[in-house]
Amino acid sequence: MAQVAVMLPDGSVNKIDRDSQEGLQALRESVAFFLRAALTDSFAGIRLGEYVGAKDSDEGFYVDSDRDEMQVSVDELAALEAKIKEFAKANLKVEHVVGDVDELAAQYAADPYTVELLQEAAQDGKVNLYKAGDFVAPANAPILVYSNLIKNYKLLSVAGAYWKGMSSNPMLQRIYGTAFYKKDDLEADLQRRQEAKERDHRVIGSQLDLFFVDPKVGAGLPYWMPKGSTIRRTIERYIIDREVADGYQHVYTPVLMNLDAYKTSGHWEHYRDDMFPPMDMGDGEMLELRPMNCPSHIQVYKHHLRSYRDLPLRIAELGMMHRYEKSGALSGLQRVREMTLNDGHTFVSLDQIRSEFAKILKLIMSVYEDFDITDYTFRLSYRDPKNTEKYYANDEMWEQSQSMLKAAMDDLNLDYYEAEGEAAFYGPKLDIQTKTALGNEETMSTIQLDFMLPERFGLKYTGKDGQEHQPVMIHRGVVGTMERFIAYLTEIYKGAFPTWLAPEQVHIIPVSDDKHGEYAEDLAAKLRAANVRVVVDHRNEKMGYKIRETQTQKVPYTLVVGNDEMANQSVSVRKYGEDKAATLAFADFESELLADIASYSRK
Ligand code: ATP
Ligand code: ZN
Repeated sequence: MAQVAVMLPDGSVNKIDRDSQEGLQALRESVAFFLRAALTDSFAGIRLGEYVGAKDSDEGFYVDSDRDEMQVSVDELAALEAKIKEFAKANLKVEHVVGDVDELAAQYAADPYTVELLQEAAQDGKVNLYKAGDFVAPANAPILVYSNLIKNYKLLSVAGAYWKGMSSNPMLQRIYGTAFYKKDDLEADLQRRQEAKERDHRVIGSQLDLFFVDPKVGAGLPYWMPKGSTIRRTIERYIIDREVADGYQHVYTPVLMNLDAYKTSGHWEHYRDDMFPPMDMGDGEMLELRPMNCPSHIQVYKHHLRSYRDLPLRIAELGMMHRYEKSGALSGLQRVREMTLNDGHTFVSLDQIRSEFAKILKLIMSVYEDFDITDYTFRLSYRDPKNTEKYYANDEMWEQSQSMLKAAMDDLNLDYYEAEGEAAFYGPKLDIQTKTALGNEETMSTIQLDFMLPERFGLKYTGKDGQEHQPVMIHRGVVGTMERFIAYLTEIYKGAFPTWLAPEQVHIIPVSDDKHGEYAEDLAAKLRAANVRVVVDHRNEKMGYKIRETQTQKVPYTLVVGNDEMANQSVSVRKYGEDKAATLAFADFESELLADIASYSRK
């Protein structure tokens, strides 16, 4: 096992395994350190912010800086890489020095960020520093003693980052990079990043003109362009149909609600940081943009007297909600401030939990099949038995409902893992975890049992015995929010949406618009009558250009029609991603297309 010499912030030196997580982090810390040195050498007067050697093995490192004139740009990264190479070749030895923080503060007076970092790191007026050549930096984390191990690294990108992550602070420029000991590892990582970029829903979303977010008109507030809206509407109709067929009653309820409801529900107490500030209407009324739909569906339940005959009562909504996510966490459609959740709440009696749970789970799995989502795992989340006071207090309920969930999973013969301490404070749940194309785990669907809200809102039903009972509430989401789900689908499909979801399903190109334009329109009218989304390309552009564009726009079917096609009532069909076109009678093409649309992505 290859060993490397690593210096710790206190100056001690250890040998560690090069290929361990710590070994890799020490390398990245070194490259980040020498990147700071390179910045200092290259740009007089540059101020240096935080630098982080590694957050985890996938991520690499970053260095923040700030300049008076132009910020560091991507064009300057190659020169900075070359500078790091000079330091590496010189095989500088990192030394440990202890500095006096007041002297250093005077020395770095022109760089308030460095002064603040030094002051934070200081103990009893002294601060640990690493020094190589003329360059000195606060000792953050273990670092390689010799710079000649720095060989395989890459500066990747630059982006704005607030000092200390706070939007009230100045914006610095953050340079991201990565480093490995082995060339092959670096190349594999760059390849993975390239792949990730190609799948990035923000990139594809703008190439295909699906949506945009403009911080000037509202950070985290997405605008759905016509094509993205078509995808969304198709999914919304699909999910409503599936739910109605499964016994749900779909409703519309307001996004604004009296703040008192969120005081009753406990959200105001526990969830306030994620909520928009309430609107004071000036007449004593306080209105709140809802961060969840549960209290709204509770109003629907309470609006009528309920009896055991009404249960299970399934209320569903594509419910718009607002959450005040931190600006730094916002990302395309994946994390937004206004979102629409495929939400539903089922009100059941205790003895209905097991069968209702199984019913919901079957719906979720069947929906996944339609979207061709295959990579997911089940997590049963229980309360922490050693820490029961954190949870809603009713031991019997917990025991009963946890074993009920487990029994339901066993009935369905599904693999799952159990996680103690992952339950919501009001009840246990099943989380369905998916992997995004970029490898991050995400909860897509969830089924949560809740004994608390029915109690807080005083929900009742009349039982067979004529007595009043309290229902249990099951919160469930099938595909999560439209925003996050479509971000996810864009990544797994790489923008090539299956035909039933594609915003434009068929693109017809007449060879000559004069001669064949009308025939193309006839075909389009027939397809539109069958609810197909079709465009006829009358533009005065070259055929090759038009065909290439249908490929970059990932249109499932491109038809070319000329003299032969017109004479034979046929079409020349090219499917997305295929090189060859085939000639088919129009009627045959139409039935093939309609079968494709109706099949969803089921194989
Ligand atoms: P996260 O941990 O990602 O913030 P959460 O645990 O708060 O999510 P829930 O309250 O369970 O999520 O919300 C239900 C669903 O809403 C999630 O499964 C996810 O699909 C979606 N969601 C939550 N927050 C956002 C957001 N800011 N933007 C888009 N979708 C979101
Ligand atoms: Zn809910």
